[in-house]
Amino acid sequence: MRLTLLGTGTSMGVPVIGCDCTVCTSPDPRNRRTRTAALLEARGTTILIDAGPDMRMQVLRHHVTYLDAVLLTHGHADHVGGIDDLRPFTMHSRIAARRRGPLPIYGDAATIARVRHQFDYAFDPAPSLSTRPSLATHVLNGPFRVNDLDIIPFTVNHGPNPITGYRFGRCGYITDGKTLPPATMQQLHGLDLLIINALRFTDHPLHFTVDEAVAVVEELQPRQALFVHMTHDFDHATVNAQLPPHIQLGYDGQVVELADD
Ligand SMILES: [Zn+2]
Ligand SMILES: [Zn+2]
Ligand SMILES: [Zn+2]
Repeated sequence: MRLTLLGTGTSMGVPVIGCDCTVCTSPDPRNRRTRTAALLEARGTTILIDAGPDMRMQVLRHHVTYLDAVLLTHGHADHVGGIDDLRPFTMHSRIAARRRGPLPIYGDAATIARVRHQFDYAFDPAPSLSTRPSLATHVLNGPFRVNDLDIIPFTVNHGPNPITGYRFGRCGYITDGKTLPPATMQQLHGLDLLIINALRFTDHPLHFTVDEAVAVVEELQPRQALFVHMTHDFDHATVNAQLPPHIQLGYDGQVVELADD
């Protein structure tokens, strides 16, 4: 099982347009953060987690030419803004034939409703001369499988709004969390890798701070944790040096190989 961090930035990305801070102008490529998303490859199955505004460049950078499914965490623009750019994954006959049919896209009811509203043209049964993504939406209802891969969705509280995290074997994926319900904490024991959001150092109503994310990691005790969805408050090298070795900042393009069971 291989997890690739396609993006590790918060909603505006890093560098921030118009900002000349030391992180936004840093030559360290690990300080350049596209919007948070990931690619999971396991048992011959390839899954995209979130399709934000940077999705097209993320998949081009990693030579992703095929997807079995897309999992959405929630409907905020930084996680679904790139859905129209899924068109090539649903158009080329070679890709569509391998998968047989439209691209499956999973999310909770609110997320799927948002996608169907925001990209209504993609679901319009009337013929169109424009190309549009061919998507099959699936509302989450407990654990499910994509090919031979078992996926367990769980609830993450994005401030007052429940959104979705995913567990694949011994890998847990959380973005845009502020708190985790007790039932979710119970579902996340025994992890080799926990991906978890850490927005910045100061409090925010919708996102974990660094201290809050560290506290979750210390309670769940995964072998390794990587932070994502970060602002320009993090100079990668400086902050990593202050964190314990099993908790580090993720960076765009980081690949983690995991045991596949
Ligand atoms: Zn977000
Ligand atoms: Zn900046
Ligand atoms: Zn969000």
